[in-house]
Amino acid sequence: MDTMSHVLAAVAWPYANGPRHIGHVSGFGVPSDVFSRFMRMAGHDVLMVSGTDEHGTPIQVQADADGVTPRQLADRYNRVIVEDLHGLGLSYDLFTRTTTRNHYAIVQELFEGLHRNGYIVARTTLGAISPSTGRTLPDRYIEGTCPICGYDGARGDQCDNCGNQLDPEQLLNPRSRINGEVPKFVETEHFFLDLPAFAEAIGGWLDRRENWRPNVLKFSRNLLDDLQPRAITRDLEWGVPIPLDGWRDRNDKRIYVWFDAVIGYLSASIEWARRSGDPEAWRQWWSADAQGKDALGYYFMGKDNIVFHSVIWPALLLGYSGEGDKGGTAGEFGKLNLPTEVVSSEYLTMEGKKFSSSRRVVIYVRDFLERYDADALRYFIAAAGPESNDTDFTWAEFVRRNNDELVAGWGNLVNRSISLTAKNFGEIPAAGPLTPEDEAVLEVAKTGFATVGELIGKHRQKAAIGEAMRVVAEANRYLSEQAPWKLKSDEDKPRQATVLHVALQVVSDANTLLTPFLPHSAQKVFELLGGEGVHAPMPRIEEVEDLDGGPGYPVLTGDYKVGARWESVPLVPGTPLAAPTPVFRKLDPSVVEEELARLGGDES
Ligand SMILES: [Zn+2]
Repeated sequence: MDTMSHVLAAVAWPYANGPRHIGHVSGFGVPSDVFSRFMRMAGHDVLMVSGTDEHGTPIQVQADADGVTPRQLADRYNRVIVEDLHGLGLSYDLFTRTTTRNHYAIVQELFEGLHRNGYIVARTTLGAISPSTGRTLPDRYIEGTCPICGYDGARGDQCDNCGNQLDPEQLLNPRSRINGEVPKFVETEHFFLDLPAFAEAIGGWLDRRENWRPNVLKFSRNLLDDLQPRAITRDLEWGVPIPLDGWRDRNDKRIYVWFDAVIGYLSASIEWARRSGDPEAWRQWWSADAQGKDALGYYFMGKDNIVFHSVIWPALLLGYSGEGDKGGTAGEFGKLNLPTEVVSSEYLTMEGKKFSSSRRVVIYVRDFLERYDADALRYFIAAAGPESNDTDFTWAEFVRRNNDELVAGWGNLVNRSISLTAKNFGEIPAAGPLTPEDEAVLEVAKTGFATVGELIGKHRQKAAIGEAMRVVAEANRYLSEQAPWKLKSDEDKPRQATVLHVALQVVSDANTLLTPFLPHSAQKVFELLGGEGVHAPMPRIEEVEDLDGGPGYPVLTGDYKVGARWESVPLVPGTPLAAPTPVFRKLDPSVVEEELARLGGDES
């Protein structure tokens, strides 16, 4: 990737049924932001998009329980989630939602294109009706025992215990949640995506993938062995209407939530382009023809969502482009790019347990940000997150990493080099002749740009931040050895100036290397070094109108063309420096006990 590319960062869509906890954002949120920030700094044209996923049975069920409409519930959590992601400094070009009219139109365009090409087929299946009223019983009103795991509270479309998707007639002991009666199953029509028609094309595409994490590639290949047609409509009132004659005005059938949510990557890109003033601009990231040859698409998610990104989304793109077994022609968007890479993370647990809101084994992002700095969490996720193994978040380890690594390592380097300089010179001093030790530490920082950059490009962020922190450790060692605080005599003064100049140059370089990971503190360090303007651009929340006449909503967006480049910038002697304020906060060890007391115990 030496030349400038169009890089799509397609980030998993958080489900709008509650606030996000730190397990959610450690999988999809922070890694995609680190990658996007680095890619922009390296000169690529990045489009980072996502939004809240707002359809489906769970939202309808929760809205019923809360006595609000699904739209009201989605409005509430869309706003909460937008604020959470903003607080973490996640630099979305557009974070939108699936209830926009733009999204509905694009979902329907893809549905129609797939249907025209023969990849969506109608099938007669069994649907539930209420014997006492004779009316359709939507999936969410049917519960019973899961045929896979035996959980007794499974719903007609999904088991919340094992996560498997179900059909209502598969439930053992099915009953109506409204009045307990046993539903009657009658024949009804639904639409299915003909997934087997894409097995060969997806297999060929997977064979050409490079650099994927091996477990993701292996898992995806295995899925192809047993592809079945998959239902893409449900008995439900909340969702995108089916855009076919005889169906579009029906109130009891909707497009299945997973089908509409994956299309969000495309609809959000199109919404971003329409808002940018160039409605066709999205094609630079998506079009598979000549102008799209430099377009790369990276998809970020937790491992439970791999199937949607490595099989189902490629199938939709292939079918719409007319490239499955049945051929066909591309719709109005033309042929569309498949993912370059599916970047899946593993799970984060909390103090050895699965995150669970009901059991209070959880910390929500907004509660975290009320008590701690965003960069402290971003540091933990990058250095110790679930990149390629399931990983445990413990408060003791969080405090230890904050205090020993961020505060005592990086913060201390920034603080002592700038304080000493401010006290002795009041400005960045010019360097005299350099010794081999000076040149060596400057070289360690300069080579960091190649090594750290390459690791981030390969989604090895844990190793990347480790390399950046190695530069910090080398600089701390250099300062201790050179001991510029001892070089106070008139005769030693020129050498003191050189050592401090070199130290500050390494601080500046290390700060750039850490900018994708720690953007908030990077801006502060840049300013402490006398920099003016934007170093690390930040997202903003904007209240927007729906482009097609629906209700308004908040989005996350920003201007990320400004800010630091991925390179060493020589410091300018004579730049005034003031005594620094601390960049990071040391945490009292008593924090661990306080946080553990907030967690719920076991259920027993
Ligand atoms: Zn189950």
